[in-house]
Amino acid sequence: MADELIHSFAGGTLNRAALERPLEGFVDAQLTSATAQIISFAGDRALIDVSDDQPKLHLVTHGDLPNSGPIPPIFLGLREDESPVFAQFTDVLDDGAPATSFPDHIKAIDLRSLAGQAILPPEELGLLAYARSLTAWHSAHRFCANCGHATVIKTGGDRRHCDACQREHYPRTDPVAIMLVHKGDKCLLGRGRHFEELRYSALAGFVETGETIEEAARREILEESGVLVGSISYHSSQPWPFVSSLMIGLMGEALSEDIVMDEAELEDVRWFSRADAKAMLDGTHEQGFSAPPPLAIAHHLLQSFVNA
Ligand SMILES: [Zn+2]
Repeated sequence: MADELIHSFAGGTLNRAALERPLEGFVDAQLTSATAQIISFAGDRALIDVSDDQPKLHLVTHGDLPNSGPIPPIFLGLREDESPVFAQFTDVLDDGAPATSFPDHIKAIDLRSLAGQAILPPEELGLLAYARSLTAWHSAHRFCANCGHATVIKTGGDRRHCDACQREHYPRTDPVAIMLVHKGDKCLLGRGRHFEELRYSALAGFVETGETIEEAARREILEESGVLVGSISYHSSQPWPFVSSLMIGLMGEALSEDIVMDEAELEDVRWFSRADAKAMLDGTHEQGFSAPPPLAIAHHLLQSFVNA
């Protein structure tokens, strides 16, 4: 449905070098290569060079890594010109600021702000999202879930290995079904308790063990709104690096209209007309209701409904 659409955090172009990674000495040679580029994170914020009009990733080489960091550099892959790209954390202080001081033109910026302001090219934002999810996984999975022994990074960081029980551990991605439910000229939108005032969005939830995407979407909509959903179509998907979700965007046709809201999850859920939805996207709604910004997949689901 949305072939042309490139979501924020999608569009990474790196060759992940799956075949070369396991080769003896390959990753080490990449790390010490003169063309190696290392992306640094201070906690969950990326270090960005804002010295000129076009902000860019603050890239360092192996020789000038700011410090050892909580995890070693993780190999992300090769750029088109074969230059290797790594990611690593720098230590942070309690307030989240980098423990290492950087020149004034190096800023630690969170990925939502980078996406919201669209100050990086899409492929660089996609690269950051990949780097952020992978480094976060490494930092949270240093011990074997099977035997409790410390695990080690393998093949540059696309997995970890437990030397005690020989089990391999792979980075996880958590699928989230997000669905715009519609019925005729109306669509169903809700607001979570943490949303900014008057903001409404498509309903969403994690796909649980043993479910298909469609089953998860129907269950979530029923739990949160009491609305029954019939046919479902796939729209598009988006990596969501908070911390490592994959948003699976769907359109669903409602079979019922009566709402029974899950008050633990939501503050409100209601039907909006197509005209309402358009005004919410345009920021012109009379009552001030608003839709999520373009960095969120929900914005594009709603846009598709408005355009239909
Ligand atoms: Zn183990």
